[in-house]
Amino acid sequence: MYRLSTMALALDRPGILHWLRETKSEALDHLWQEADRVRKEHVGEDVHLRGLIEISNHCLRQCHYCGLRAGNRDITRYRMTADEIVACAQQTRDFGYGTVVLQAGEDEGLTLGTVAQIVKRIKTEAEVAVTLSLGERTVEELRAWHEAGADRYLLRFETSNSDLFSRMHPPRAGQRPSRMSLLRQLGPLGYEVGSGVMIGIPGQSYEDLANDLELFRELDLDMIGVGPFIAHPATPFGQADAAPTAGQVPASELMTYKMIALARLLCPDANIPSTTALATLNIAEGRELGLQRGANIVMPNMTPPEYRVYYEIYPAKACIRETSDMCNQCITGRIEKLGRGIGNGPGVSPNMRRRARGKTPKLQRLDNNARGPRLR
Ligand code: SAM
Ligand code: SF4
Repeated sequence: MYRLSTMALALDRPGILHWLRETKSEALDHLWQEADRVRKEHVGEDVHLRGLIEISNHCLRQCHYCGLRAGNRDITRYRMTADEIVACAQQTRDFGYGTVVLQAGEDEGLTLGTVAQIVKRIKTEAEVAVTLSLGERTVEELRAWHEAGADRYLLRFETSNSDLFSRMHPPRAGQRPSRMSLLRQLGPLGYEVGSGVMIGIPGQSYEDLANDLELFRELDLDMIGVGPFIAHPATPFGQADAAPTAGQVPASELMTYKMIALARLLCPDANIPSTTALATLNIAEGRELGLQRGANIVMPNMTPPEYRVYYEIYPAKACIRETSDMCNQCITGRIEKLGRGIGNGPGVSPNMRRRARGKTPKLQRLDNNARGPRLR
């Protein structure tokens, strides 16, 4: 039995596994309270909003879990124009958010030059921090995009179980797996680094989740996104023979809250979102419960309605029929009801600010501007 007062010290391997397997709500209340206390102490009461723009659903990968995989011929593919993306970024700034997240499949149409131009335009025409989430790209591209002004990169490692990962995320033809090595290069390139995992992937064990948590700490992540796996019928993992086997972790809301809480306790200075996948499992209060159990970030969807219906990574995704205005009102209202404030500025993680101290002038500037309206 792990006593609350010593829990922070008891988060060794057996302690982590204990909490991952715990099901009694009275015991879990202690975990939620401790995660909430640590969240408040390290990243404060404010919830930072990141405007999510799903800029393209073209993808050349064949991930066994994702509805955007190249093999899915049943979706209409789109790629937003630079003007559309910049207009969404300006709307994000007008809503008062300090960051846009540009997310897409691995789309060869998003070339080095195209993305660099879009990032430069956002930095001058919308003046918000830019997070990119464009999959596994070359170091040359990542360097050029950072030089163009991109501040952060999000690349989930999905699972620390390398066998499971290579089965569910086949490498591109003729190429070796590159996700982990890219993740380790993003920090030295100057990015604030985000990663994360899905929970309840067919074949994933409690040991795997404990390893995931340890890897979050080892990678010294600035942002950690964890969300439930949701089966998509047009993918190999959406087929009946991929159904979870006995002994694996469930793809449940409860498991997701446990991972959020444990990530907060193990990486107290990271930014942690309450994810859309969580809201998809519990539209009534999934986001709120995530925010009360360790999370401090929400990513309202800013994608124009005519495109967001086609960014179907899993079915029945939350907010797919809403407009950006509706999402803004809904999310800000929910946060206010919790009695939490909405953060100003880019919301740089305390982890990144600590790493930035004493480093390059650019990173020092980022540290100094951490509470200001923009990064540069
Ligand atoms: N293509 C980029 C990449 O793979 O990093 C970014 C876009 S991808 C759709 C963003 C994230 O969606 C992935 O990192 C994965 O964790 C999540 N995702 C994909 N399919 C999912 C599913 N079926 N259930 C839950 N999350 C899923
Ligand atoms: Fe493409 Fe990313 Fe989906 Fe994999 S997870 S199929 S890389 S969009």
